[in-house]
Amino acid sequence: MSLELFFSPESVAVVGASRQAGKVGHEIVTGLIGGGFPGKIFPVNPKADEVAGLPCHPNLQSIGSVPDLVIIVVPPKFVPSVMKECAAVGVKAVIVITAGFKEIGAEGRQLEENVIQIARRAKIRVVGPNCLGIMAPARKLNASFGGELPAIGGVGYVSQSGALMTAILDMAKANDIGFSTMISIGNKADVDELDIMNALGQDEQTRVVAGYLESITDGDRFVQQMERISQDKPVLLIKSGGTGAGAKAASSHTGSLAGNETAYEVIFDRAGVIRCDSVRTQFDYAQAFVNQPLPPGQRVAVITNAGGPGIMAADAIERKGLTFASLTDETVARLAENLPAAANVSNPVDVLGDALPDRYEFALEVVLSDPGVDAVIVVLTPQAMTDCAATAEAILRAAENVQDKTILASFLGGLKIAEATGILRRGGVPQYDSPEGAVTTLKVMNDYVTWRNRPKRVVKLFPVNRRKVEQIIERHIRRGVREIAEMESKEILEAYGFITPKGMIATSAQQAASIADQLGYPVVMKIWSPDIIHKSDVGGVKVSLNSPQQVMDAFDLMIYRIPKKMPDADIHGVLVQEMCTGGMEVILGMNRDPHFGPLLMFGMGGVTVEVLKDVAFYLAPITADEARDMLTRTKAYQLLEGVRGQEGVDISAIAEGIQRLSQLVTAFPEIQEMDINPFVVGPEGTAPVAVDARISVEKS
Ligand code: ADP
Ligand code: MG
Repeated sequence: MSLELFFSPESVAVVGASRQAGKVGHEIVTGLIGGGFPGKIFPVNPKADEVAGLPCHPNLQSIGSVPDLVIIVVPPKFVPSVMKECAAVGVKAVIVITAGFKEIGAEGRQLEENVIQIARRAKIRVVGPNCLGIMAPARKLNASFGGELPAIGGVGYVSQSGALMTAILDMAKANDIGFSTMISIGNKADVDELDIMNALGQDEQTRVVAGYLESITDGDRFVQQMERISQDKPVLLIKSGGTGAGAKAASSHTGSLAGNETAYEVIFDRAGVIRCDSVRTQFDYAQAFVNQPLPPGQRVAVITNAGGPGIMAADAIERKGLTFASLTDETVARLAENLPAAANVSNPVDVLGDALPDRYEFALEVVLSDPGVDAVIVVLTPQAMTDCAATAEAILRAAENVQDKTILASFLGGLKIAEATGILRRGGVPQYDSPEGAVTTLKVMNDYVTWRNRPKRVVKLFPVNRRKVEQIIERHIRRGVREIAEMESKEILEAYGFITPKGMIATSAQQAASIADQLGYPVVMKIWSPDIIHKSDVGGVKVSLNSPQQVMDAFDLMIYRIPKKMPDADIHGVLVQEMCTGGMEVILGMNRDPHFGPLLMFGMGGVTVEVLKDVAFYLAPITADEARDMLTRTKAYQLLEGVRGQEGVDISAIAEGIQRLSQLVTAFPEIQEMDINPFVVGPEGTAPVAVDARISVEKS
C-alpha cells in the first residue's frame, strides 16, 4: 500500500480523544480542527460524548464508516486492542502517538511486536509508536501534537526524534521555511525513514527531502533508494551517531582508519545524499534548493556595497573550489557607464556604501545577463544611507525573471536587516548570515549538479581465478584461522591479477644467500612468522641487501634478535624477496561494515599511513571513474601526478588495483578486512606490485 492515506486522508478518527485541555488526546483533536482539516474528524472515547465541540463515538465500529486514518493516543497496554478494532473495521493507516514501547525495554518491545503483528495480519500500515505524528500544511492536516501547522513550502521532512521536530518547526517559522509534509516516525516499528522518503520523493509538492535520522537499518536498501530519490530532488540529511563498526578491534590499517562515521560518509556520497551537521545548515541549503534554480556552472559573481565583505566572499569562493567569474567587457562597460566613478566594475562589483536600491537593481540585472556568470551573491551592509528593505525589494525585482542562474543574498547585520531578510526569504532569494554561508551553499548545489550528471555506473569485471581464492579462504575458516599470512594473501592477490614480488623462505643463512643469488640483487628479507603482524615494528624487515654476505648477516641478526623481543612467536624462517626499486608506496585496503558492506580505502602507504590519515574511502563495488575520484580526494594526489620536476606515477594502474580489490571483496563476503601495503606504483606504463598484504577472514 502506498502511504497516501497518511498524507491526504478524507476522514480521521482519534482514539483516546479527551475532553481535558492539555492532554495529548485533546490537543490532537483541537490541532486537527485548528489546522482547518476539511474532512471528517471522529473523536473516539467511551467515556465522553463530546470533545472540542465534536460528537464523540464510544468505539470505531459505532462511527458507521471506515476512517481513512486512525490516530491512537490511548495508554500503551490498550493499544493492541484498539489495533484489533482497527483490523475488524478495515482501517488501513494508523498513527500510534503513544509512547512506552521498545524505547522502555524488553516489556515494551514485546508489546510493540504484538501491535505490529496485529497490524501486519490486517495489512494496516503503522507510523510510530512513540511519535509526534504527521503535519501536511497544504492539505490542512495536523495529525500531531506538535503545535500549529507550519507554513506551506517545498520541504518534506522526516524526523526520528519527535522532540527535535518541535524545535525544527519553531526555527522554520523564524526563518520563513515552509513544509510540504512533516513526519515524526518515532520507533519506526513499521513505516520507516525509507518508506517516508520514498513517498516524499514522489510527492509533487516536495522539492527537497530532508530528515533527521538516528539509525539507518538497511544499508543496501538505503543506498539504492536514496540514489533514486536524489536523482529527482536533493536529499538533505542530519545523521547522528555512528555505525559502531569502528569500535571493534582492527588488525589492518584500513580497519583502524575506518572511523565510526566512515560508512555513512561513504554511502551518502554514493547515493548523492547531502549530509548536514545541523538544522541550521539544513535550512541554509534547503531554502536555496527549494527557491532557486540549480547553478548551471561554478562561476560566481559578487555584488556588494562594502569592500571587506566582498573580499570575504571572494576568499570563500576560492577556498571552496568555485570559480570567481570574470565579467565580459560589455558587462564592465555597462556597469562603468551607470555606476559612480569610484565604484568597482569588475568582480566583486562594489556599488559603494551610499548605494540606494536602484543601484543594486541595475548592477544585479547587468551581472545576471553576463554569459560568464552562473550564480550571483548579493552582499549588503547596513550603512547610513542604506535602505535595507527597499534594497531587498529591488533584488527581488531584478531576480524575478531569471530562471537559469542562482541568486543568493548575504545581508550582514542584525536588527537593521531583519525586515529585509524576511522580504528576501519570502520572495525566494535565500539569505545567509555570512558570505561564506552563501558560498558554501552554492558549492553544495554545484556538487549536487555534478553528482546528478555523473556517468552511468559500469563496474568492470576482470577475469580472475575465483576457485583458488575460495580454497584458501575455506581452509582458513575450517581451521578457525582469522589471519591469512603473507604468502597465501599473495596467492589470493595473484589470483585476482595483482603482481607480487618473487621470493622464497629460507631456514638458514646459507639458504638465504642462495635464494638471493637466484633472485638477483638487491633483495629484501622479512621475518616469517604467523604471529608477527607488523614485521617492521620488530626489526623484521631489511631492505636493499646487495650481496650474499649482507644477506647472511641480516639472516643471523633477525634470527638472533626477534625471539628476544617476541619470545612466544613461532618463527618459521626468513622470506627472501625481490626488491622493487623506485616507485611510490600507496595503500589499498578494505574494511567491511556490518550494515553497509565493503568500504574500500586508498591512501599514501608505507608505515606513515596511520599518522597522516590522508586516505579516502568508497563503497564497493566501484567503477573506474569512482576509483579515480577516490585518488583525487587525497592530498597525496598531487604527488601521484608528479610535483616539482618529479615524475608522476601510473594513476590508472592504481585505479585498476582498486577495482580488482573491489571485485575480490565483493565476491568474498568472508573477507572482513585487508590491506595491500605497500602497493608500489611506478611511472606510466609500468605494472604496480603488491609488496605486502594482510587479509582477515571470518565465516560470513
Ligand atoms: P610490515 O608492513 O609487516 O612491516 P612490509 O612487507 O610492508 O612489512 O615491509 C615494510 C616496508 O619495507 C614496506 O612498506 C616497504 O617500504 C619496504 N619493503 C618491503 N618489501 C619490499 C620489497 N619487496 N621491495 C621494496 N620495498 C619493500
Ligand atoms: Mg606492510
